[in-house]
Amino acid sequence: MNRQSTPPLHHSPRDEAEETRREQLIEVTIDSLAEVGYVGTTLAEIARRAGVSPGLVSHYFDDKDGLLEAAFRSLSRSLWARVRAKLALGHTPRARVQAVIDVNLAPEEFDRRTGTAWLAFWGQVLHVRGLKRVQTGYQRRMLSNLRHDLRQMIAGDDARSLAAMIAAMIDGVWLRAALSEWQEADSASARALLTAFVEGRLKDLAQARAAVPPRRAAESVATLRVINPATGELLAEIPADGPAQVDAAVARAQQAQREWAALSGAQRGRVLQRAAQLLRERNAQLAELETRNTGKPIQETSVVDALSGAECLEYYAGLAAAIGGEHLDLGAAAFGYTRREPLGVVGGIGAWNYPLQIACWKSAPALACGNAMLFKPAELTPLTAIELEAIYREAGLPPGLFQVIQGAAPTGRLLTRHPAIRKISLTGEVGTGKAVMADAAETLKQVTLELGGKSPIIVFEDAQLDNAVSGALLGNFYSAGEVCSNGTRVFVHASVHAGFVERLRARSDALRIGDPLDPATQVGALISAEHMEKVLGYIARGRAQGARVLTGGARVTAGQLARGFFVAPTVFDGCRDEMDIVRREIFGPVMAVLKFTDEDEVVARANDTEFGLAAGVFTEDLRRAHRVIARLEAGTCWINHYNITPVELPFGGVKLSGLGRENGRAAIEHYTQLKSVYVAMRDIDAPY
Ligand code: NDP
Repeated sequence: MNRQSTPPLHHSPRDEAEETRREQLIEVTIDSLAEVGYVGTTLAEIARRAGVSPGLVSHYFDDKDGLLEAAFRSLSRSLWARVRAKLALGHTPRARVQAVIDVNLAPEEFDRRTGTAWLAFWGQVLHVRGLKRVQTGYQRRMLSNLRHDLRQMIAGDDARSLAAMIAAMIDGVWLRAALSEWQEADSASARALLTAFVEGRLKDLAQARAAVPPRRAAESVATLRVINPATGELLAEIPADGPAQVDAAVARAQQAQREWAALSGAQRGRVLQRAAQLLRERNAQLAELETRNTGKPIQETSVVDALSGAECLEYYAGLAAAIGGEHLDLGAAAFGYTRREPLGVVGGIGAWNYPLQIACWKSAPALACGNAMLFKPAELTPLTAIELEAIYREAGLPPGLFQVIQGAAPTGRLLTRHPAIRKISLTGEVGTGKAVMADAAETLKQVTLELGGKSPIIVFEDAQLDNAVSGALLGNFYSAGEVCSNGTRVFVHASVHAGFVERLRARSDALRIGDPLDPATQVGALISAEHMEKVLGYIARGRAQGARVLTGGARVTAGQLARGFFVAPTVFDGCRDEMDIVRREIFGPVMAVLKFTDEDEVVARANDTEFGLAAGVFTEDLRRAHRVIARLEAGTCWINHYNITPVELPFGGVKLSGLGRENGRAAIEHYTQLKSVYVAMRDIDAPY
C-alpha cells in the first residue's frame, strides 16, 4: 500500500522530518517528470537526483507507482486547496463557478515544469489504478462544486450538463496548450475563453426559458425520475408542473380558501383530526413508501415519519379552535380587539430528508389557520406528499386547499414568485433560503426558512457518558446523518475524552448498515449518488487535513449494497476547529469530535459558526446547563438529550440557519396576520 495516502497520525518532530523528506522527494519527482518524462522517472533516478539511496525512496513510496501516485496526489491536493481558498471568497454562485475556472487555468498550471508533470500523469491515468483514483477524486469534487453552484442559477439538468462541459473545456484548453508546448494558449486567454463560454451558455439558457410560452412550458417541462437510493431501481416518473399548472392551482386554491376561512376553527380542526387518523391507519404502507424513496431504514420510518406527521395534525386540530386575537381596554370611550386572520394561499417547499413529515409540519398549521397550501416536495422525494393530498381529501378537506405541485427548483420559483401566494415556508439549504427570500421580496411575501446547520453537542466532565454517547449517535447517524439539526461538532471535555471516544467507537462499530427494508437495519442509504460523492469528498478532506478516522470512513458496497448509496457511519477524532469537516454542513453520517477544557472556551468555539440551528449540552450540573444554553447561539436546544422534536416546542434556527419557527403555538403567528380594530363607544368629538 502506498504510505503516502495515509496522513501521519501524530506530529512528532521525527514525523515532521519524515514528512519534509517525503515532500522533498515529491518535488524531485516533479522535476524529473518535467525533464525526463514518465519512463525516465524511476526510483533510481529520484534517488540519484536527491542524493539518497534507492532504498530510502522505496521506504517512503514502495515502488514507482506509489511514488508517482504520491506526486500526483500532492499536485491535485494543492490545486484543490487553491480552488477551495478561492471558493471561500466567492459570495455568489457565479463567482464560485468562476473561481473553479480561474484556479484550474491559473498561470501556475501553464508553467512548463508543473504542466509537463501533469501531462505525464494524464498519459498514465488509464493504466495505473492509483493515478486513476486521484484523477477521479479530483474530477468528482470539481463537478460536484460546479453543479451545486450552477443549480442555484439554472435548472438541474442544465446545471449537470453545463458543469460537465466546463470541466471538459478546462481539460481541453489546458491539454491543447500542453501539447503545443505552451505555444497556443496562455492562462489569461484560456480563462477568457472559458468565461465567455460560460456567460454565453447562461445567457442562452435564460433566453430559452424566457422564450417558451407559458402553456408550452407547462407541457414540456422535465419529468422527475424517482429512484430508490438503496437499489437504484426506478420507482416512478412524474411530470413536473409548469407555469400553467401553477396558475391553475393557485386559482383553485384561492376559491377554496375563502370558504375554508369562513368555517370555525373547530370545524377545520375536525378535518385535520380525521386526516391524522388516516395517517395512523396507513402508517405501515407510508413508512414503506418513504423508505423506498429516501433510503431511510424502515426501523425509523415506521415510528417517525407518518406518525410524527399525525401528531402534528392532531396538535393543530386541537389548537384550531383556540386561534384568536385579543381584547384591549381603551377606557370608557372605546375598546380595541385584534383578529388573527389567515394569509390566503401559501406555499410550502420541502427538502428530501423527511418528505412526509415536512409536508405535515407545513400544511397542518397553515390549514388550521384557514389558509390553502400549495406544497412542492423535493424532486428526489415526491411520493408521500401525493399520499398526503389523497388522505386530506378522504378526510373531507375541500378540493384545492392542499395541492401538491411537482418539480425541481424552477417549479419552486414559480411559487416563490407568484403574486397571489402570500407566504413561502421553505425547508432546504442556506443558499436556497437566500434565493427564496430574494424572490419573495418582489411581492413582499412572508417567509419561514428552515435551513442548514453545523450544530454543537457539548459533553462536560460530569456528564453521564453513556447518555452523551447516545445523544451523539442519535445526533449524527439517525437517517444516515441527513438531519438538519444534527450535532456534528461534538465537543468533549479533555478529562473524559478517552472514555467517551472508546464507548463511541464501540457503539458506532456495532451499527447495522443494510437493506433499509430489513427491520434490523439501523443505517440505510444516502439520498443520491451525487450526495454520496459529496459526503465521501468531505471524508477525504477530513483525512487530508489531518483528522483521525476512528471508525467508518468509506462507502459500503458489500453484496447488494453496491447498487445503492451507502456510507459507513464515520467518526473523526483529533479534529481542529478550522477543518472543513468541522465548519461545513455535510448532511451525512460524519461526526467530528473535538476536545475542550474550559466552559468559556467551549461556548466561544461552539458559537463560532455562521449557522445557529441547534445545540445540545450534557451535564449533571443544573446551573451550568442553563447558563451554557443561555449563551449558545441556536434556535433549538436540548439538555441531556439530542434531536428530539416534540410538536409542542417551536423548532427553527438563528443566524444563517433560518427565520421563523415551525411547530408549537409560534407557527400560528407565521400563518396568520393581525387585524387591529378600534371600536368607538361614544360619539365623535370633532373639532370641525
Ligand atoms: P435544497 O435547498 O436543495 O432544496 C430544498 C427545496 O427547495 C427543494 O424542494 C428544492 O427543489 C427547492 N428549491 C431549490 N432551489 C429553489 C429556488 N431557487 N426556489 C424555490 N425552490 C427551490 O435542500 P435539500 O433538499 O438538498 O435538503 C437538504 C438541506 O435542507 C440541508 O441544508 C438541510 O440542513 C436542510 N434542512 C433543514 C431543515 C430544518 O428544519 N432547518 C430540515 C431538513 C433539511 P428540488 O430539490 O426539487 O430541485
